[in-house]
Amino acid sequence: MTVTRIAIAGIGKIARDQHIPHIAANPAFEFVAGITRGGRVDVAVPCFRTIAEMLAAGTRVDAVAICTPPIGRAALIADAFAGGLDVLLEKPPAATLSEAERFAAMARDAGRLLYMTWHSREAAAVEPARAWLKDKTITRVEVDWLENVRQWHPGQDWVWEPGIGVFDPGINALSVITRILPWPLTLTASKLDFPANKPAPIAARLALASPDGVPVAAHFNWDQLGTQTWEIRVDTDHGKLVLTHGASRMAVDGQPVEVGDEAEYAALYRHFAQLIEARQSDVDLAPFRLVADAYLLGQRHEVGPFAE
Ligand code: NAP
Repeated sequence: MTVTRIAIAGIGKIARDQHIPHIAANPAFEFVAGITRGGRVDVAVPCFRTIAEMLAAGTRVDAVAICTPPIGRAALIADAFAGGLDVLLEKPPAATLSEAERFAAMARDAGRLLYMTWHSREAAAVEPARAWLKDKTITRVEVDWLENVRQWHPGQDWVWEPGIGVFDPGINALSVITRILPWPLTLTASKLDFPANKPAPIAARLALASPDGVPVAAHFNWDQLGTQTWEIRVDTDHGKLVLTHGASRMAVDGQPVEVGDEAEYAALYRHFAQLIEARQSDVDLAPFRLVADAYLLGQRHEVGPFAE
């Protein structure tokens, strides 16, 4: 078995909660270095300020997982490809659609592998839902992705930068529906609620449609107190499919369907190992394109200031 020596850039919440433990649990990977703005952090591997510094130090490394916020990744990615590394990119892939497309072109030009991850697509019910929906006639889709930003992103200023906001979680829902629905989606309308004191939306209502006009309604809210909801409901000619808990659970007409319980990031690193074995990139910008469209068509409403 090939063992991929992997560095992580950006030792924040997702690196600590998911990447480091799932790399450790997967024998196809070895965590060899951290890239961190401060040059040192409390992880059990050598740390460096930049990828160039890591390579200059003679670190033997094959790939890097970019776990920094989506704005400001260009230099890291240029250094990674220049240094001959494969790249795993946390969602959302970039600051803008044009930048994400450039990252894909840079990978091709460098002959390196790029895996633009969508961790929610690795949730246990996604592939079972996709298989179940394949031969059904879908009549309507509804998405509710309602969470409390204070609970999930305390102290993370970057989540309020332009272009992010409630689409940081909302893009996870879009990554699931663009995977399970058997047709491409077009965005037809978008309403965005901007807090008076923030340059990014706290809530969004999107209208999307299949090529034949099947309606898909998505509601994202980042000010949800109490119960947190990550749910997708699909009406079909053979009953109603419901995905809950971020698409890790599935039911049809109220009856639970067994889908297994593999953790998203276990599946994500299993998939990365397969891509490395096959020397194949995985780049799908469909969820990010819908976010860009939501800003293009977005009718903006100012709401009260956001209070931590
Ligand atoms: P975070 O806790 O803020 O960590 C990001 C890390 O990136 C920081 O600790 C910092 O690490 C580095 N960094 C570099 N430039 C930065 C900048 N301008 N501002 C802030 N940090 C900067 O963020 P996160 O929650 O891990 O999210 C990182 C990425 O993972 C995002 O794209 C997010 O959408 C995605 N993600 C997050 C979650 C989640 O539950 N939090 C889930 C799935 C995916 P150093 O100090 O080491 O340089």
